[in-house]
Amino acid sequence: MYQKLKPPQEGNKIEYRDGKLIVPDDPIIPFFKGDGIGIDVVPAAIKVLDKTAEITGKNIVWFEIYAGEEATKLYGNPLPEDTLNAIREFRVALKGPLTTPVGGGYRSLNVTIRQVLDLYANVRPIYYIRGIPSPIKEPEKVNFVIFRESTEDVYAGIEWQKGSREALRFIELLEREFGVKIRRDSGIGVKPISEFATKRLVRMAIRYAIENNRKSVTLVHKGNIMKFTEGAFRDWGYEVAREEFGDKCITEDELITKYNGKQPEGKIVVKDRIADNMFQQIILRSEEYDVIALPNLNGDYLSDAAAALVGGLGIAPGSDIGDGIAVFEPVHGSAPKYAGQNKANPVAEILSGALMFEYLGWREASKMIKKAIELTIQQGFVTYDLHRQIGGKLVGTKEFAEKVISNLETI
Ligand code: NAP
Repeated sequence: MYQKLKPPQEGNKIEYRDGKLIVPDDPIIPFFKGDGIGIDVVPAAIKVLDKTAEITGKNIVWFEIYAGEEATKLYGNPLPEDTLNAIREFRVALKGPLTTPVGGGYRSLNVTIRQVLDLYANVRPIYYIRGIPSPIKEPEKVNFVIFRESTEDVYAGIEWQKGSREALRFIELLEREFGVKIRRDSGIGVKPISEFATKRLVRMAIRYAIENNRKSVTLVHKGNIMKFTEGAFRDWGYEVAREEFGDKCITEDELITKYNGKQPEGKIVVKDRIADNMFQQIILRSEEYDVIALPNLNGDYLSDAAAALVGGLGIAPGSDIGDGIAVFEPVHGSAPKYAGQNKANPVAEILSGALMFEYLGWREASKMIKKAIELTIQQGFVTYDLHRQIGGKLVGTKEFAEKVISNLETI
């Protein structure tokens, strides 16, 4: 099955039966370091995860796989089949960031991984860790989880260069068949948003809200302008809420008209906001948002902006979730200028691991990691990114992870 990889002999596979993960105490978990600062933050995160697993009576059997530059050296391909097969076989993986060339070169490897493995929800929790500097007055009110659709929208990769045969044919087709005029020197991109992909994303977001006692699910869209893609996203989202979760969800309108503005116990309010407004909402009225579901592009923008409210990209964890398969990764990219300098903040990668623990059902372990990070920052240990904002004791990537590990032992 593998061209160059050898899966570990010890450990056990995570299985998926009847829509549920079955997780052994010693799961085999594939990981790759990726590009840029991945070589700094991934090994640091693994040390913290190993220690937490040990304290909680578990053992992770890591299985190193390759993507990005390292894979190109080894396979002549930045995303070899071996890597995709290992994630398929073992179901849950941890990844570092991958560099994507702008303008030309190959397509984003991150987008390809999500599309090929059908990891349709990019799930990014945004919450505040005490001690981390924030540009807003009450960052402790920020606590939401972003569900960003990640297989379609303008990220589907359907685009043609200006002057190409495809672009010109497309322009001619639009003019001939639909009477639509487009300048001939245009590049062309297509934005598909389907009922199927929207509904499965919103379904996952609502289920998450129910299982985690969240109060609301907000559908974010630019449907005032893009009516049949973004507007349809909103309509299909409400349809899922009404048709599949009618006993658990009420709309914002119903909250006012039927319930006098008082949210009934056990009901989730489903509401929608236009994307541009949502950027100010999360800053000015953070506490009103809880679970947020959006199409791909807006989801990408909003999650970086949201990350900034609670300390920036060095802090923000993320995950790519499909049905019975998931990859955990920080929101940040490969920040190449800091690569290999033992400088980058490993918190986002460590917290992505904590999120992975939650997904595996290891909730206590996940909480321990968050506490240990909080404690480390409160003790004043910070990497350069936080140091330039709040000062304190400047440490490198490795040293920060070591401090977290010693705090884990005291919790
Ligand atoms: P980036 O790699 O996220 O870095 C942007 C800036 O964010 C850095 O210069 C740094 O800010 C800060 N930062 C990011 N990670 C940090 C960390 N761990 N610790 C401290 N600071 C951190 O974004 P980019 O420069 O736009 O993208 C670089 C490459 O990564 C591109 O090829 C892009 O396509 C790729 N990318 C990959 C992913 C992914 O793998 N999922 C996601 C996004 C981007 P300062 O310079 O201000 O210190």
